[in-house]
Amino acid sequence: MTTTAAPDVTAAGRSDIAHHLHPYTQLRQLEQDGPLVIVQGDGVHVVDEHGKRYLEGMAGLWCASLGFSERRLADAAHRQMLQLPYYHAFSGKVPGPVTELVKTLMAWAPTPELQRGRVLFANSGSESNDTAFKLVRYYNNARGRPAKKKIIARQKGYHGVTAAAASLSGLPTMHQHFDLPLPGVLRVSAPHFYGNGKPGETEAQFVDRLVQELQDLIAAEGADTIAAFIAEPVQGAGGVVIPPDGYFPRIQAVLKQHDILLIADEVITGFGRLGQPFGTNVFGLQPDMVTVAKMLTSAYVPMSALMVSDAVYQVVADASASVGTFGHGYTYSGHPLACAVALETLRIYTDDDIIGHVQRVAPRLQAGLRQFAEHPLVGEARGLGLIGALELAADPASRKPFDPKRGVGAYLVKRAQAHGLILRVLAGDIIAFSPPLVITEAQIDELLAKTALALDDTL
Ligand code: PLP
Repeated sequence: MTTTAAPDVTAAGRSDIAHHLHPYTQLRQLEQDGPLVIVQGDGVHVVDEHGKRYLEGMAGLWCASLGFSERRLADAAHRQMLQLPYYHAFSGKVPGPVTELVKTLMAWAPTPELQRGRVLFANSGSESNDTAFKLVRYYNNARGRPAKKKIIARQKGYHGVTAAAASLSGLPTMHQHFDLPLPGVLRVSAPHFYGNGKPGETEAQFVDRLVQELQDLIAAEGADTIAAFIAEPVQGAGGVVIPPDGYFPRIQAVLKQHDILLIADEVITGFGRLGQPFGTNVFGLQPDMVTVAKMLTSAYVPMSALMVSDAVYQVVADASASVGTFGHGYTYSGHPLACAVALETLRIYTDDDIIGHVQRVAPRLQAGLRQFAEHPLVGEARGLGLIGALELAADPASRKPFDPKRGVGAYLVKRAQAHGLILRVLAGDIIAFSPPLVITEAQIDELLAKTALALDDTL
């Protein structure tokens, strides 16, 4: 089947749709509409091939924390390129900048157990979660518990797209036609009170129900078959789901009781998005493993990391001694360029008190989003720190969603784009907000004003 591109698609756009298999895209729609070709960055704005400026309300994909023109990161990358563009960390070697980055990262790590632990570098959030998936197996084999392998993940979770990470993810389009999930992944409900709460149920009762669901699942499967539970502190791509009060402490208590590891996927929430260094800090988690990516380098170069507690590391190290080598790692694990950019990113976070800045400006975003709760298209406005969402509804009073085929959220995002604001629509007609952390209050006002225009256009 061939589709015809709209007449206003530019030469660059035509070349793109002729040859580029776009990630995470409605492919047939793209063939007609052509892509938005972005050619430049300027602070929290980006510029398209026609010179039109957009406020990037998503920091790209929840990642460009320092905006799109941070000179210090470009300079750090340039210096490192000239000094040592590549080296690896296999078989007893290490690129110099890794040694500095691990020290700095350990100081950022959200708990004392992780600060005493180890970090394994990769290139994407998916790879780090894939590594976690493998490591829980390694760990339990090493401890002589080969049956304890299953991982509990949540509906609406997003953990990446490698076969294992997509299996952990709880979004249907990541599984359909891919023959996923892989065996060994168990699923529980998302802590999405707006969507999953029953009529008349309080948030506390909702939490009771989720805890019971987890306990029932563990009882049915047998705790001796379950290795880990993976969770984003705030679910991002699944709909910006903020867990209700008490959810994580209760879940964590159940996990501890059954010796089930907790993996915190902090790929979005790591490094200040929620106004604390990590979601782990916000929700009082005690994870055995934490995955980070995205804002680790402000997304200027790909890099991710898996942090593991010292207890996990010691088991893995002993086991690897028995087979002679720890047989996992990437050509680019600890790539010097990524290390240099990550180090400079973390320095900027400290020098510019980025987390303090998030705490100062976030109330403006959150208050502005909450005002849209009165809009006739909005079922719920929610968020925390510099992340937020508007969940659209056909009938906000009864929380009745729109028919997904109507594409109401996609239309709203298109209208925002026409007004010079880039947002993202998530499944369920949920409009996501995740601007660069350096956004100012005046720029938040711009974002809110443009959102208001897009909402009214969609009425
Ligand atoms: N985990 C979370 C929470 C994410 O939001 C993402 C990406 O958005 C990933 C993992 C996967 O990261 P990547 O796209 O870098 O593989």
